[in-house]
Amino acid sequence: MLTIPFENTYLQLGKAFFVKTRPTPVRQPEMIKFNKELAAKLGLAGTNLDSTEGLALFAGNQIPAGAEPIAMAYAGHQFGHFNTQLGDGRALLLGEIVAPDTLRYDIQLKGSGPTDFSRGGDGRAALGPVLREYLVSEAMAKLGVPTTRALAAVSSGEEVARTQLLPGAILTRIATSYVRVGTFQYFAARGNDKAIQQLADYVIHRNYPDATHADNPYLALFEMIIARQAQLLAQWMQLGFIHGVMNTDNMSIAGETIDYGPCAFMDHFNQQQVYSSIDRQGRYAYHNQPAIAQWNLTRLAECLIPLLADDAESAIQHAQEQLDNFQQLYHHAWLAGMRQKTGLSQEQENDAVLIHALLTLMHDNQADFTLTFYHLSRLTRDPGSADRKLHRLFKKTTDLNAWLGRWRERLSAEPLSDSERQQAMQAVNPVYIPRNHRIEAAIRAAEDHQDFTLFHQLHHVLQKPYEEQPGQEQYKLPPLAEEVVQQTFCGT
Ligand code: AMP
Ligand code: MG
Repeated sequence: MLTIPFENTYLQLGKAFFVKTRPTPVRQPEMIKFNKELAAKLGLAGTNLDSTEGLALFAGNQIPAGAEPIAMAYAGHQFGHFNTQLGDGRALLLGEIVAPDTLRYDIQLKGSGPTDFSRGGDGRAALGPVLREYLVSEAMAKLGVPTTRALAAVSSGEEVARTQLLPGAILTRIATSYVRVGTFQYFAARGNDKAIQQLADYVIHRNYPDATHADNPYLALFEMIIARQAQLLAQWMQLGFIHGVMNTDNMSIAGETIDYGPCAFMDHFNQQQVYSSIDRQGRYAYHNQPAIAQWNLTRLAECLIPLLADDAESAIQHAQEQLDNFQQLYHHAWLAGMRQKTGLSQEQENDAVLIHALLTLMHDNQADFTLTFYHLSRLTRDPGSADRKLHRLFKKTTDLNAWLGRWRERLSAEPLSDSERQQAMQAVNPVYIPRNHRIEAAIRAAEDHQDFTLFHQLHHVLQKPYEEQPGQEQYKLPPLAEEVVQQTFCGT
């Protein structure tokens, strides 16, 4: 018998917040991957999860004692259009656990069968998206980006009907909260101010305890949510990450990257890059992401208005002030991170101009995003042979040389030695990212041949994204022309 010390505080919020739902068992589950390291971090090392009983749990075939599975209610703006009811249509919150780090984590099954929120969907997940979410969310964690995490992936032994029949799978994922902007919107759409306050209190207690001590805890909560999102977005942008579906239901109140669908890391840099086949207008294109985050936070502000002040006018004013801060906070976080990426340990007024000039060059030359910073991290203050590797990424090198001249001049104001600077830069510029064509190849092999070797290899390399791993050089490389992933999935 598995003994997981589940708690279920979300249930105490009351029936309006969820629907109790049991997972639908699957025919023949098999473990694809169990995240031992994460289990240990959660304090579950001794619970024998890597077993037949664990498999039954991760498949939704057995509900462990203490778990009270629920489908959470939420609404959301999807591509700008408001839907008053979305909710967990293929996910179930099993329960929460308090980990040794004293944080409370939600354990959720994704792909565990239909719920009251399924809206005609089958409640299932296909193997491909499960593998993608496992790989990318774990890579994000190792890259140092706040994210939900993958505890286990199991194949279901059943097929799911998409445009074709595909093998099914279930992901067990962990978050410090599954409350979304859309959760607040759900109650705002119903004029349920009491529920909004309950939810805000819950979020403060659980994810933003420091807000408790503020004069106006709800305003402090909003301020802190904004700060976390600004930091998160800066990190995405610094890694060339494109989420793909930044709908308000896919924005976590806790500031973690959540709901990996048609997401991808860019190879060659393109400000307008879009991967999702359903994002025809480019709403969620790379360069739009910070503005979309702010748009989503504005939708959150609208929900919080009743809590922010006694009268609506001052509430709106407070909210507006906080929202106006987002851009500045974002820019500040972005610039700080970009200075690190370019080896600037000190602040100078024109740094942003210098950094933007590099990004413009990268865009114009279609230079590989990750490799540009990788090679830049290996240059010396004086031009040297390492320059050539950077040159190869750019179509026209005259402009790059001019930029490098400016950069080197700027470095002369820096106190660090070449090797100190290189070390600092290499600590923030990854060697390995989950490149789209590698993920695709891993999915293809798993789907078509039940071969998980590429999945495991890719996952292994991404455990240490900032370290050179001899023998794994191929994982650094962008796709060859024939490897470029043409059509990116709509995610589900
Ligand atoms: P997403 O954009 O993938 O985060 O999903 C948006 C909404 O659609 C959420 O309410 C999901 O629960 C729901 N959904 C997505 N796929 C399915 C499915 N296969 N079955 C039921 N609901 C789904
Ligand atoms: Mg979602």
